[in-house]
Amino acid sequence: MRRISVTSLLYWCPLYLDYSVQMPIQTTGTADQFGSAVHELIYRMLSGDHKGLFDTEEDLAWSVLLEAFPGSVESPLTVEVVNEILNMAKAAQRVADVYKPEEFEVKFDYSFGSEDTVVVGIADALSENLVLDWKTGSYQAESHRQQVKIYATMLWRLGLLSLPATLGVVYLGNAGKGGDAEPVIFNFQESEAEVVETFVGQFLSQYALGNAKPHISDHCAFCPYGRWCNRTLKNVETNDALHELWKLQERAGLIQKQLAPGFGEGIHLTEDFIVEKKGSFYLKVRRKSNGS
Ligand code: SF4
Repeated sequence: MRRISVTSLLYWCPLYLDYSVQMPIQTTGTADQFGSAVHELIYRMLSGDHKGLFDTEEDLAWSVLLEAFPGSVESPLTVEVVNEILNMAKAAQRVADVYKPEEFEVKFDYSFGSEDTVVVGIADALSENLVLDWKTGSYQAESHRQQVKIYATMLWRLGLLSLPATLGVVYLGNAGKGGDAEPVIFNFQESEAEVVETFVGQFLSQYALGNAKPHISDHCAFCPYGRWCNRTLKNVETNDALHELWKLQERAGLIQKQLAPGFGEGIHLTEDFIVEKKGSFYLKVRRKSNGS
């Protein structure tokens, strides 16, 4: 049974799906590491996962950063990045305080009637009538709304969501520097879920029959296989989505380079922190108390 993520499906491109089997890509780069760190910190803060282990949210943020960028050391940039992910997570928390999701990072799958493919998704925040998705950038794309609508349709069919529901894409890009989250909130009805279900089901069955055609879209700008498919022309001057991606990648690359030589297993004392590492995991990151 082939497993296709909703984010892969959103390319609506049979070439992309074929390439992703022939040349699987684990990650699209260090920008992903930053995004994963933000998601992980939000998850731990909202689910209360850190309670009892870390003294403060700041300590938790350091721990998450060290897991995302193993071997990080303190520097002005590291401090800036920790503040940034913490600001984003706090902004997400303020949104969660309003909409009150009850579950976080819920994994699910649904076949849309296909016999050989199953679509998999992760809902960042969920309750009986609510699905929220965190985005670490600020570029708002129609495909982000599509993603949450597909999640909602799958969750509804699985009995994990009741419709009508409130769906939201929460942009955290401007929250990193202390601004607020920008939630794009909309309603989703049963009739819309039926349309989504039919659309996805038809795409998957056409793909299985080899009849689906590549669909040139904004997503081609992000597609890691663009250089092989030779079907797209990217206007690098005007493509805002591409520029945002480059900015994120450049920054993440910088973070990776500057966040230093790496800790081995054991306990490490830095000027302000005590870090304990076992295997590849950071067990504890604790700010030293004054005078220790
Ligand atoms: S660049 Fe566009 S058309 Fe080409 S494989 Fe990627 S998504 Fe498909």
